[in-house]
Amino acid sequence: MAGKKHTHKYYKQGTGTWACALLDCSHFLPLNVAESISHRSSICWGCNTKFDLDEKLIKQDKPKCYECVEFELFGASKKDNLPDLSDFDRALKLMEQKKKIS
Ligand SMILES: [Zn+2]
Ligand SMILES: [Zn+2]
Repeated sequence: MAGKKHTHKYYKQGTGTWACALLDCSHFLPLNVAESISHRSSICWGCNTKFDLDEKLIKQDKPKCYECVEFELFGASKKDNLPDLSDFDRALKLMEQKKKIS
């Protein structure tokens, strides 16, 4: 898809590489550059808007933006009272555990 520019919608493949989930896009990050994912933008799997990835968000296989993660984990009622980063870490771990069980 030369010349067609879009923000890739990244997801993590089992092999540890990151690939774009959008139709007709074959973009992916080979393992040797997979670390650069934390400096890229992606499309959120929750709200479908562009956001910047970082080291915490890429712990998700299908990264969602902070707003979506916080909404999912803490509910709308806590929106005004954003959790600190240690809460966020703990919450991500919980999310992973839930995924393994279900
Ligand atoms: Zn793409
Ligand atoms: Zn989102």
